[in-house]
Amino acid sequence: MSILIDGKELAKITRQNLKIDCDDLKEQGIIPKLAVIMVGDNPASKVYVKNKSKACEEVGIEYEEFLLEENTTQEELINLIKELNKREDITGILLQSPIPAHLDINEAFRTISPEKDVDGFHPVNVGKLTLGQDTFVSCTPYGVIKMFEKYNIDLEGKNVVIIGRSNIVGKPLIQCCLNKNATVTVCHSRTKDIVEYTKKADIVIVAIGKAKFLKADMVKDGAVVIDVGINRGEDGKLCGDVDFENVCEKASYITPVPGGVGPMTIAMLMNNVIKAAKNK
Ligand code: NAP
Repeated sequence: MSILIDGKELAKITRQNLKIDCDDLKEQGIIPKLAVIMVGDNPASKVYVKNKSKACEEVGIEYEEFLLEENTTQEELINLIKELNKREDITGILLQSPIPAHLDINEAFRTISPEKDVDGFHPVNVGKLTLGQDTFVSCTPYGVIKMFEKYNIDLEGKNVVIIGRSNIVGKPLIQCCLNKNATVTVCHSRTKDIVEYTKKADIVIVAIGKAKFLKADMVKDGAVVIDVGINRGEDGKLCGDVDFENVCEKASYITPVPGGVGPMTIAMLMNNVIKAAKNK
């Protein structure tokens, strides 16, 4: 039976510590403030945004929401970002994805000032991460790394297999794990025999968005299993990319869904907003 990595509890402790930092900043006259832009009416995004505003409130970060209509033009979106870049009171900017298909999200991410890019998606910040320089690390990979640190899971020399290569999770995770001296393998939808890789892995991180994809016979005994996925199972309940009930019999450590990577992602967003305010 594995040890459960309690992301909910870790996130709570992180927020409590960040509150102390936030109070210190305020005493110095620096007020951390996050601007969140949401375009359209995506129900899942609404839930994520609500959770982010709740976390801000808990830490003491000021928060302002910008809700744009589904038919917003690229120019309107870019102009809003430029205006927020200029605003002295705003220390962090987040564009909630997905945005409607007619908009160019990459141009929008590029427009956010790197100093306010608390999601770590700006090419400058991605480049800094690749070079091993101090930067805003995107929140989900950062949350995963914090979990390893808090549970004393050393990555040095370990075989880490990441399944999924998205710009927001898989790719930055490669760099984060490399920076911890792991040997990293990345699998994706075109990988021929994923099991061949996962069975040899000391640590498997799955971020693909396929309910219960990673089965017990795909991992070796004692592997650490991190589940980034958020899906609705056939029973309508939230579940991850890992067949949790069976994999937990084999893994040494495992993250649950919900209550694993998700809460840590939001805690790391709070961390990045405080960092942006400190840099200021
Ligand atoms: P994404 O952009 O859709 O990327 C999915 C990745 O998975 C792609 O690289 C894709 O490969 C790969 N993939 C898809 N099906 C596969 C398969 N059958 N076998 C192997 N690889 C496969 O997704 P994302 O934004 O990274 O999100 C992934 C999951 O994590 C989603 O469930 C999402 O909701 C969740 N998520 C959770 C958090 C959190 O805070 N917990 C944060 C972000 C995302 P190709 O590149 O070849 O297409």
